[in-house]
Amino acid sequence: MYQNNLAFAKAQDEQDQLKSYRERFYIPLDKQDNELIYMCGNSLGCQPKAVSHYIEQELNDWANLGVEGHFDAQNPWMPYHEQLAVPMAAVVGAKPSEVVIMNTLTTNLHLMMVSFYNPTPERHKIIIESDAFPSDKYAMESQIRQRGFNPDDSLILWQPREGEDLCRYEDLEAIVQEHGDSIALLLIGNTNYYSGQFYPIKKITELGHKNGSKVGFDLAHGVGNIMPELHENGPDFAVWCTYKYLNSGPGSLGGCFVHERHHTNKNIQRFTGWWGQNKDTRFNMRKGFDPIPTAEGWQLSNPPILSMAAVKASLDIFAEAGMKNIKAKSEKLTGYLEFLVNDLNNEDIAIITPNDPTQRGCQLSIQVKNADKALHTKLTEAGVISDWREPDVIRVAPAPLYNTFEDVFEMVERLKKIL
Ligand SMILES: *Cc1c(COP(=O)(O)O)cnc(C)c1O
Repeated sequence: MYQNNLAFAKAQDEQDQLKSYRERFYIPLDKQDNELIYMCGNSLGCQPKAVSHYIEQELNDWANLGVEGHFDAQNPWMPYHEQLAVPMAAVVGAKPSEVVIMNTLTTNLHLMMVSFYNPTPERHKIIIESDAFPSDKYAMESQIRQRGFNPDDSLILWQPREGEDLCRYEDLEAIVQEHGDSIALLLIGNTNYYSGQFYPIKKITELGHKNGSKVGFDLAHGVGNIMPELHENGPDFAVWCTYKYLNSGPGSLGGCFVHERHHTNKNIQRFTGWWGQNKDTRFNMRKGFDPIPTAEGWQLSNPPILSMAAVKASLDIFAEAGMKNIKAKSEKLTGYLEFLVNDLNNEDIAIITPNDPTQRGCQLSIQVKNADKALHTKLTEAGVISDWREPDVIRVAPAPLYNTFEDVFEMVERLKKIL
């Protein structure tokens, strides 16, 4: 189906329904002003060209209207975040009432833990995948300590078997069986930032719920390249950032999903602020918190409009391109990368990421035996922006909205020369 030559790659690009979207992004340049092969959307996505116009609109409205911009701006700031709910929900497969853009990722993880991790001496454990992103693990450990428990007893790792790189679902089942009623929460990073493995959301959610545990996902490496179908699959919550595949700029806002079954539960624990308060009475500034009965009820503060404008610029592109189309292209593009890497026929190279497209996003983690960081430096010098993880893994993420089949072909050609 795939062919290892430039003409084939170019023909694929020609047929690509989404090919025009690359033009909507700034592709970073080398010192001679040539476009780099940018495969690092898993770390920071490229800037949509429209971002500056979206932000400029808000700067102008602020300059001209001052505080009246809350109501009179072209996109009034008071309900600004509400416009993001529909396109954001479409990307993660949720109802608009179930998603909100707010804070940053780790902050949202903490807020969700306040609501969905309520440990008791009988049920206090959290299951997390062993190679979780460090911030997630720090958040879990501090939450466990904050509630008077000890991470040594309460944090249980779902690990790959000896000599393997991927976590097996049946091992998670075994952990749930073994720890049973003592498990309060399953919190899984999906897609795994290191291996690129995508875990089955529906199966894990059902496994956790059957055990009486809550289930949450960190979709930082999945959102924008997988289809988590959050409403249908039914986890209690999910969190993500918008600066990786969602291209909203360094340190931009986070996203949060709370399943609608929790929206009107007044007994749920949460940290609160005025932006979660019923909009009819928010400005009465009176006592008695009455949460908005949607994911918005978890908001704390009035949001930073300039960052929200960047998120809006990006989500408008996702809405136009359609998540199904993006996902379909992503599978082809990553499949092509896999084909070319395997076609190197190099014994020292192995792809850690699962070869089943339903068990991965767009990233491939390529292990190069006996390599060190010098390999990554040479790749960078050759104009390929990728990501290195000690001891010997290159992470490459062809992003479906702006990477091309030619990018993928060129990247592997350059890797071959270096090897
Ligand atoms: C990128 C990433 C983070 C970073 O968290 P911030 O709060 O946005 O700095 C955390 N967790 C995971 C899984 C990530 O991929």
